[in-house]
Amino acid sequence: MRYLSSSKIELFNTLGLGSRCSDIRVISDPEELSDYLLSLDATSRSNVNVAGELSNTLLGEVLDTPLILYRDGSVIDISKSKNSILVHVAGSCRFDYLVDVLCEQGIPGLELLSGIPGTVGAAVVQNIAAYGQRFSDRFLSARAFDLQDCSIVDLDAEFLKFSYRSSSLKESANYSSRFVILNVSMEFNDTGPLDSIVYKDILKLHTERGRAFDDIRARRATVLEVRESKGMVVGRDNWIPSAGSFFLNPVMKTETALRLASLVRGHGFAESLFSWYKPDANSTRFPAALAIRACGFMNGDRWGNVGLSPRHILAICGYPHATGSDVASLSLLIQTRVREKLDILLEPEVRFLGRFKNKDIDTFINNNPFTPGSCEPGWAIGVDVTQESVGLRKS
Ligand SMILES: Cc1cc2nc3c(=O)[nH]c(=O)nc-3n(C[C@H](O)[C@H](O)[C@H](O)COP(=O)(O)OP(=O)(O)OC[C@H]3O[C@@H](n4cnc5c(N)ncnc54)[C@H](O)[C@@H]3O)c2cc1C
Repeated sequence: MRYLSSSKIELFNTLGLGSRCSDIRVISDPEELSDYLLSLDATSRSNVNVAGELSNTLLGEVLDTPLILYRDGSVIDISKSKNSILVHVAGSCRFDYLVDVLCEQGIPGLELLSGIPGTVGAAVVQNIAAYGQRFSDRFLSARAFDLQDCSIVDLDAEFLKFSYRSSSLKESANYSSRFVILNVSMEFNDTGPLDSIVYKDILKLHTERGRAFDDIRARRATVLEVRESKGMVVGRDNWIPSAGSFFLNPVMKTETALRLASLVRGHGFAESLFSWYKPDANSTRFPAALAIRACGFMNGDRWGNVGLSPRHILAICGYPHATGSDVASLSLLIQTRVREKLDILLEPEVRFLGRFKNKDIDTFINNNPFTPGSCEPGWAIGVDVTQESVGLRKS
């Protein structure tokens, strides 16, 4: 276990935000974490926040409760049998390190999730997903510390109730759930068919590069390249500090989604979008990015030290000296405009932690000079985005 000075916290969250917190510890070993939690009295245990790499967390300026960063752990064991491959990994292991290890060994199943930051423990909470693969599809069980009963328990998929970017652990109203994921077991199969690549940008680049579709490492390389082009790989080219997609794609009736998509981008676009967006009979997810663009926001829009990524409109970016309140206020501004203009409620995917000095839209707009962005999202190029009819763009 090591103590982290509060002044270093900006290096330990992907938005690069500072926060004042008197007790930050970094723990990597599952046993050390459970011993530490056992040593606390009930009140201290209920106050503790457990996080990983803080890549899905918006930190307020002040954190009054202790923070444990459970990260930098390792893959514990990979055992192959005739029919399956079992993987045991610490919850503190960097998820993308696990993906890299599996790809190097030619084990398919997570390669399309390459480049997602964060730990394996947090991947359980969030049920991370991308490009048609979901973490939950490979999950077997997790060993967890129960903060309420002060015991070690095993959690299965039935208990975790995985759903889109969520699990029963994420549904907790608090930042930390009752259960801290110590270790995770996963199961893979290297004999069955590979997951199909259905996303157009991945398919296009993979084909252009002349890469084989059954080469797991090549699949990983393509995904990393596409993510990098969107500024979505931490520390690599085009990276601007962010927490990835800030909002979830909202659920609505399929007919409403089609009407909105047609309103914003025309009937042809709506039909093509939902031909691969796979709505079920009654409801579908509407792309939050489309809603945001339709309300007049543009890639690269900036308000003082925060803005929308020039390459990914769903990512709120923190520039030097940004505060948690700046990011929170911008998210509120976006939510408010989208609700007013389209009657859609955007829910943050990112979890808020700590105290925010100010979350007021007017103060935010008055204190932060606006610089308009000029980068149309790739998916909108060549299409008449009817921003005038539903938008509020000001420059
Ligand atoms: C550039 C970028 C791209 C991204 N792309 C994607 C993407 O494609 N798909 C996707 O799904 N997500 C994506 N994300 C979001 C993020 O990477 C995931 O949500 C990730 O799982 C967060 O991991 P973390 O360790 O940083 O979690 P943190 O932000 O540290 O914590 C998030 C939540 O998990 C809880 N938690 C963390 N560790 C544990 C544990 N061991 N036990 C119990 N609870 C725990 C925390 O209490 C908190 O509530 C992206 C983020 C960024 C910055």
